[in-house]
Amino acid sequence: MAVVKSNAYGHGIEQTVGALRGFADWFGVNSIEEAVRVRQIDAETPLLVMGANDVESYLHLREMKHRPELVLSSIDAIESLQARAPGTKFHLKVDTGMSRLGFHGATFDAVLEYLALHPELPWAGLMTHFANVEDVTDQQYAQKQLDYFAIAKAKALKAAGNRPLLFHSAASGAALILPSARMDIVRVGISLYGMWPSRETRISARSMPGADLPADFDLVPALTWKTRIVHINSVSAGTPIGYGCTHRPVQDTRVAVLPVGYFEGYDRRLSNKSHVLVLGCRAPLLGRVCMNMIMVDITHIPGATVQTEAVLIGTSGSETVSADDLAGLSDTINYQVTTAIQSQLPRVLVRDST
Ligand SMILES: *Cc1c(COP(=O)(O)O)cnc(C)c1O
Repeated sequence: MAVVKSNAYGHGIEQTVGALRGFADWFGVNSIEEAVRVRQIDAETPLLVMGANDVESYLHLREMKHRPELVLSSIDAIESLQARAPGTKFHLKVDTGMSRLGFHGATFDAVLEYLALHPELPWAGLMTHFANVEDVTDQQYAQKQLDYFAIAKAKALKAAGNRPLLFHSAASGAALILPSARMDIVRVGISLYGMWPSRETRISARSMPGADLPADFDLVPALTWKTRIVHINSVSAGTPIGYGCTHRPVQDTRVAVLPVGYFEGYDRRLSNKSHVLVLGCRAPLLGRVCMNMIMVDITHIPGATVQTEAVLIGTSGSETVSADDLAGLSDTINYQVTTAIQSQLPRVLVRDST
């Protein structure tokens, strides 16, 4: 399953679904609104809505020819779905240790009893989600979740009668390093875009006993985020640059202004910290990230002019700035860096000729 929620992790949901149509067996989204967007590009690939949606939005499902399937976590939600869009298939979520969505303990036994009494309901799957695969190299907690899920699966098979169920648990982290978590479907998001879920997962893929990826397996980021220089300004030594006058260059400096700021998704915590790439050279940020602009030092890049490209995430010549680099500098994770790229910015799909 190609997970394309949150504008395909910032990559553009339309472009991503268009590129993966025919390759992915499933698409996964968070909301019914996203499901509607996927259906505008792809009319029939199986589609799973994994988030909790307002029951009023179930009404939109009626008009859809190839309906998405929903993940549900309460008997109320099952009844609301059957009332508003009868016949829509659903998967039950089991909470095996995340304490977010899902049935557990008595609520799980109750829903199984309810579903056994209603064999006409289109129950199609059982799924769970891991809480602690990416942050560790020791998978004890995930193993506990898997054990709990195995018990849930045995109970579900009894209650299902002749309804065939799909079982699934793995997001990228577990899909990469826990073969026993792969089951019927792997729900891959971050790794689909060529990013590792975390450093711990990357290390585990190489060294954890039981991990089975080929030795030369690696991920290559799919995304480049670029802009162009819109203005160049010569600033003499000692003159402050930007809000708060947080940077004063020690020498005369050529400053390029780029039309991207925190509104466009360039995190303000990167102020005075990150680099962009211009003509294969690193250009350090000068001063604070503004709402719609940043300033960078191009004193050492004499070839740069107005209109020259600047790479915010990606590679230029032999230099790279990755989403992981920016995540490290702004104290977050690569997931947040790319999903933050404002959805109105144009996305261009570039097909690799190989
Ligand atoms: C977002 C999501 C995924 C994908 O997670 P990645 O770590 O990006 O692969 C899988 N399953 C569920 C339920 C999700 O919400």
